[in-house]
Amino acid sequence: MYKIILREDVNKYGCEELIKIFLRPDLYDLFYAQAEVPDDFCGDGAFGMAAGFDECGHSKYDVIINLSGDSSTEKNSVKRKLYAALSELTGNKHEWGILTGVRPVKLAGNILKEAGSYEDALAELTCCYFVSKEKAETLLDIYMYQQEKLGKPPAKSVGIYIGIPFCPTRCLYCAFASNEAKPGEIERYLTALHKEIDGVAKMMREKGIYPESVYIGGGTPTTLTAEQLDFLMSHVNEAFDISRLKEFTVEAGRPDTIDKEKLRVIKKNGARRISINPQSMKDKTLEIIGRSHKADDIRRAFNEAKEVGTECINADVIAGLQGEDEQDFVRTLSEIIEMGAENITVHTLSVKRASKLVELDKDFHYKQAETVRKQLAAGRKLLAEHGYRPYYLYRQKNMAGGLENTGYCKDDTPSIYNVRIMEDSQTIVALGAGGISKAYYPEENRLERVANVTNYEIYIERLEEMLKRKEENLFREGSTC
Ligand code: SF4
Repeated sequence: MYKIILREDVNKYGCEELIKIFLRPDLYDLFYAQAEVPDDFCGDGAFGMAAGFDECGHSKYDVIINLSGDSSTEKNSVKRKLYAALSELTGNKHEWGILTGVRPVKLAGNILKEAGSYEDALAELTCCYFVSKEKAETLLDIYMYQQEKLGKPPAKSVGIYIGIPFCPTRCLYCAFASNEAKPGEIERYLTALHKEIDGVAKMMREKGIYPESVYIGGGTPTTLTAEQLDFLMSHVNEAFDISRLKEFTVEAGRPDTIDKEKLRVIKKNGARRISINPQSMKDKTLEIIGRSHKADDIRRAFNEAKEVGTECINADVIAGLQGEDEQDFVRTLSEIIEMGAENITVHTLSVKRASKLVELDKDFHYKQAETVRKQLAAGRKLLAEHGYRPYYLYRQKNMAGGLENTGYCKDDTPSIYNVRIMEDSQTIVALGAGGISKAYYPEENRLERVANVTNYEIYIERLEEMLKRKEENLFREGSTC
């Protein structure tokens, strides 16, 4: 058992995330120097705390890391010392070093801009942040690729996200606002959503703001009928100024919701990119994770999407799923490559608080760390051999091994929406239940969130309030709009 004591004024979130990468929560107690002394402590050691003793006089702790006396004012000093101590004591190193944020590519970009050269940026990432050379190179390469292919977002452009919070069934690892809704409910939701589209499109037109990308996500948008989808997409096309729209994506995540008619509707309405998300091509795994389809449904959906002429298909897969080893993961990727996906997003399983998985095994991601590490390495190699390159990358809490999600693309087909949302340099207008819009203020390099309620029934009831929030907070002076 570890006892870790830190100074009260450290970056608590960053330190706690770093500790969690090395140690399961039941293996340590964390205290801050000014924290109250817990009941089971005695003595008056440094900062009023000493190792706790049980009735027999034995200490509860095998190891004490006390960094509360660190007086350095350098931002990452404590994190570096913490990393060094945890690494030495556990015997583990971590590829991401002391980085704990969601957007390491953005940080690498800033470091590159300040350092002035690739070599200096690489040195800073590896020496000051303890990032492995391979990960540091990946970050810098992704950043430079994004700059080369997409550059900065055009003035007055935004990314639009439209959320459809319905799915056929709920997946084991899901933490999204997804509901198994009845047809009447979907209709009521769409009526409210159309009103929000109209209201926001009016605000945008009045200010000359236009979408650079539109992303219809969820949930599973293809839970809608072909008619509903057609109505929604044509409505989007009419409401917004789409004259400079560069990308329109529809998430068709669950193959059991896809048919040729819907695929034709998607294409007819200008969405050249869809996302079919197999997660795994192993039937047993699909059953375990609560998908109501088989691998054959994925094959059929891919074939049909190709037949109707979909230009760009993204496929999501997850490393670290229950019962899967490196070979299973490689088999899934190989088949997806074979089916001709232009984009492949490799996710690392993360155990989220709102998922069913957390109830079954809250420590599952710790157990999967080594398997995931091998799966991701094998996946990277396989994808590179088939001409795919990483184009965006992000991390989340509670990911197996503290690893990452990486989007790969072939033939220079990076998704604009995915890149922009991760670089945090464009206003994102999110419509529908659970949508979190972000207004970007370039002068202050700051984002301001404007959230819709998550529950779709409350969203329907309080639509006017959602619109008012946007009107007052989203398109203000000083934002990119
Ligand atoms: S398809 Fe996606 S949104 Fe729907 S239940 Fe599964 S993980 Fe959640």
